[in-house]
Amino acid sequence: MTLRIAEIFGPTIQGEGPLIGEPTVFVRAGGCDYRCSWCDSLHAVESQYRHTWAPMTDQAVWDEVRRLSGGQPLTVSLSGGNPAIQDFAPVIALGRAEGYRFACETQGSVARPWFADLDTLVLSPKPPSSGETVDWAVFADCLSAGKGARQVVMKIVIFDETDYQWAKDAHARHPQLPLYLQPGNPEVDPDSPVDPQSLADRLGWLTDRVMADGWFAPRILPQLHVLIWGNKRGV
Ligand code: SF4
Repeated sequence: MTLRIAEIFGPTIQGEGPLIGEPTVFVRAGGCDYRCSWCDSLHAVESQYRHTWAPMTDQAVWDEVRRLSGGQPLTVSLSGGNPAIQDFAPVIALGRAEGYRFACETQGSVARPWFADLDTLVLSPKPPSSGETVDWAVFADCLSAGKGARQVVMKIVIFDETDYQWAKDAHARHPQLPLYLQPGNPEVDPDSPVDPQSLADRLGWLTDRVMADGWFAPRILPQLHVLIWGNKRGV
């Protein structure tokens, strides 16, 4: 099996969602079925970068994760792009045999049987500001596929009031899913500095908005890696 891999890096900390702060090696898959207006991973999405994606066997991917982690089992995060458009079942099997844990973040547009083999499945449906439209039937298929995973959560990036109201609807569709909200970062150029005050202001706005509604279901988190390293890649 050959996988298209944009980058493998780490260990570093997971910067988002339920595993925030956890030491992690990232396997970033190349290719995505979405084109979100504010995508911060275009190097793993647009076909113009395809020549930078390495065709790697399952074993080669696994050997690199093991090298980076020094053979110490930790969490491996499958990200992208959309990792769900490729078959990561063999990589997960190789890693689990050595005691590693696996997480995957995907928008929920493609359901895969290997979701059941994950420790953490983060389904991140994209709100209106992305310019994409969620197919909720396929999202439900993803939930079904992930039934065997240790935890399944929903994470939504919020840029504005429209996204916020959309997130409330999304939660109402799947109230059983732990929900993580994250303010969007409009500064996605890896070569441009981020403005920490602007990030804090967005986090403050979202927190105030949720509290004013008396809506206590979500956890509200920043993108920790952006606070530390800005938009730099591979950290
Ligand atoms: Fe980028 Fe994720 Fe949207 Fe794909 S789903 S375009 S990787 S933000």
